[in-house]
Amino acid sequence: PVSRLTGIPPTIFSTMSALAVRTGAINLGQGFPDTDGPEGLIAAAQQAMADGANQYAPGIGIPPLRAAIARHQQRHYGIELDPDREVCVTTGCTEAVAAALLGLVEPGDEVVVLEPYYDSYVAMLQVAGAVRRPVRLRAPDFRLDPEELRAAVTPRTRFVLLNTPHNPTGTVLTDDELTAVADVAVEHDLTVITDEVYEHLVFDGRRHTPISTLPGMAERTLTLSSVGKSYSVTGWKIGWATGPAHLVAAVLDAKQWLSFCSGTPFQHAVAHALDHLDGWPAELAASLQTRRDLLCAGLEGIGLDPRVPEGTYFTLTDVGHLGWRDGLEFCEALPERAGVVAIPAQGFHENSEAPAVRHLVRWAFCKEPDVIEDGLRRLGGAI
Ligand code: GLN
Repeated sequence: PVSRLTGIPPTIFSTMSALAVRTGAINLGQGFPDTDGPEGLIAAAQQAMADGANQYAPGIGIPPLRAAIARHQQRHYGIELDPDREVCVTTGCTEAVAAALLGLVEPGDEVVVLEPYYDSYVAMLQVAGAVRRPVRLRAPDFRLDPEELRAAVTPRTRFVLLNTPHNPTGTVLTDDELTAVADVAVEHDLTVITDEVYEHLVFDGRRHTPISTLPGMAERTLTLSSVGKSYSVTGWKIGWATGPAHLVAAVLDAKQWLSFCSGTPFQHAVAHALDHLDGWPAELAASLQTRRDLLCAGLEGIGLDPRVPEGTYFTLTDVGHLGWRDGLEFCEALPERAGVVAIPAQGFHENSEAPAVRHLVRWAFCKEPDVIEDGLRRLGGAI
């Protein structure tokens, strides 16, 4: 029998982080910061453990966290949610994606997805039996073309799987682009599942707009996010799904068989942070913007011509002129040659051999400035 995961390679993030550990290279690959989140957040988790919050939580999440998530959505975006029916806590955004797709998508359903896409989308769409309908964000500016979006929709399309701010391109969808998605969704009665895990990590005065705030969208949008990126605790794995009760219920239906519930002391700590450390993510974004500029200027200085991202932790470059077969070969050789790890973006595309994507490489800048500088020095001497 053919496994449901046939053809899905091990996640590139594990592969490349293991390579970084093995070779001692600077890891500009997997997106995780090299500094911890706020002390108050970490202390709150320690306190929760000391206070005995160490057994199973309710599958849907502890009430104070669901209430804090609802307040967060209200404060930042004016979204009103019933914390008992319209919020479900998940084990990171990755589980939120998995549970949403497993809970909602039927075999044969077509799902429009922005390409390049995060690798777990492909794995879980395949497990769910979905048919992917990719819409490419194209270099050099990686914008969404409303015509391509419309062309991707057929009578069998039921969902759009959106991601903004977008990994790996760094695109933050504009209000016009979001409106184009919303128009298509309303016209074809589609449900939008939107991964907004980088919601607070936007630059140059931009604001992230949740697509659920557009007219006609609240009732058809399931919004996913997490604390890992916003508060620099990627190892805590506390995420959430918010939206109409029937969509959130589908997430919980699947989640109960995946993780059952998410880490109890971390939930208490995150509830504290969302209410009391609300300004922290904006400070992180400001410091990331400086590091983005440092990395992009450095990459430009060595002829790699990066795309200056509008959000996220990542920038893409094309390494086609350096003579490697593709981005994967370049990234596999990089630790040995330069002592640096990066992520080939080929695996995030339907056709990894297409000329426009074959040599795309992703670099992360969620690292200390001296680490970025060291990485750039190493690269400069080696490529
Ligand atoms: N989202 C992170 C990235 O893109 C990785 C998370 C993971 O490896 N599961 O680098």
